[in-house]
Amino acid sequence: MKILVINCGSSSLKFQLIDSVTEEALGKGLCERIGIDGSVINFTPAGKDKIVKEIPMPDHNKAIELVIEALTDPATGVVKALSEIDAVGHRIVHGGESFTKSVRIDDEVIRAIEEVSDLAPLHNPANLIGVRACQKAMPGVPMVAVFDTAFHQTMPEEAYLYGLPYSFYEKYKVRRYGFHGTSHAYVSKRAAEIIGKPYESLKTIVCHLGNGASISAVKNGKCIDTSMGLTPLEGLIMGTRSGDIDPAVIEYLNGRDGRDLKDIMNALNKQSGVFGLSGNLSSDFRDLEAGYNKGDAGATRAIMGFAYRVTKYIGSYAAAMDGVDCICFTAGVGENSPLVRSLVLKRLGFLGIRLDEAANDVHGKERTISTPDSAVRVMVVPTNEELAIARDTAALCA
Ligand code: ADP
Repeated sequence: MKILVINCGSSSLKFQLIDSVTEEALGKGLCERIGIDGSVINFTPAGKDKIVKEIPMPDHNKAIELVIEALTDPATGVVKALSEIDAVGHRIVHGGESFTKSVRIDDEVIRAIEEVSDLAPLHNPANLIGVRACQKAMPGVPMVAVFDTAFHQTMPEEAYLYGLPYSFYEKYKVRRYGFHGTSHAYVSKRAAEIIGKPYESLKTIVCHLGNGASISAVKNGKCIDTSMGLTPLEGLIMGTRSGDIDPAVIEYLNGRDGRDLKDIMNALNKQSGVFGLSGNLSSDFRDLEAGYNKGDAGATRAIMGFAYRVTKYIGSYAAAMDGVDCICFTAGVGENSPLVRSLVLKRLGFLGIRLDEAANDVHGKERTISTPDSAVRVMVVPTNEELAIARDTAALCA
């Protein structure tokens, strides 16, 4: 089957056409600045050069129209006709407690996604705009919703409840949900395949370290804890997000230098993390590593703080699972930063972890970076959220 994977944001739309049999991406691209001046679509057919076109996209319907044009273009497209696209898989950020796995989209599913949109007001409505635009452009083509939160729905109550009045959960559904679930599921399953042991028999910690970063504990094939919470602000120190802080910081800052709640939340989401810690040097680890290597104090502070938080979470998840067989690093930083991996792992000798420095320094694909005598297998497993979405979509539409 040929599956179109759509990841729709409020002003952007990422797409990829995947052959579900070969699991190859036939082409991928991005529409940017939808509804804003200077809209651009770029499309890269597999093995060919990227094509960039500046075309006005007043709304997502126009963007989908251009995606279809790009995919079916007689010269540079990757399918002859729209009818070759068998199904569409949509990334949906928040499924609340309503969705524990991917589902075929129908009117009832759309209503249920709308119902939990309060929990992700920036993301879910944008995701649904993408669904509706595809339904309009491709009537009759089956569509699937794949949720960032679904994989984490197996967390037990003790992990997902905050220490708050229980009525806050009952009335408002305030609890921990977790995100990046598609990636945590894909990487933990892939790790079991690489190790050659049943998924249901392993204790795995997945460190998804990108601009947004989260970590999860997967025990016997089920997620039992993850670092993001009600929103993606909780947990690790991220590119620009604070991660865990004392909630009283918010009240303490309120009114200082004229700050109101909106300013403070904006600071926690957009000016904090390694960006804020470094003294606004950068949120990009390539810049921070360059600074660290030159002895820059801000860059060093940010990288050490980031790595320390990851180490603490790994330690706590090893405790939560009563052991750990495998630790996986994935996403932009996890896949590409030997420095961060080594700073994290060097503190975990008490778990019997032995880092293979040479393997850690090799840039490449899937690989083991622990020594053969390490008590825990440590791996780099590049994530592939689009492929995971395509697999679920194919399975539900076959
Ligand atoms: P997201 O999907 O959350 O935007 P990614 O998983 O794409 O994030 O990760 C992006 C981050 O990965 C960048 O901000 C950058 O810090 C980091 N990164 C990418 N390449 C490298 C590299 N070679 N070395 C260190 N960090 C890198």
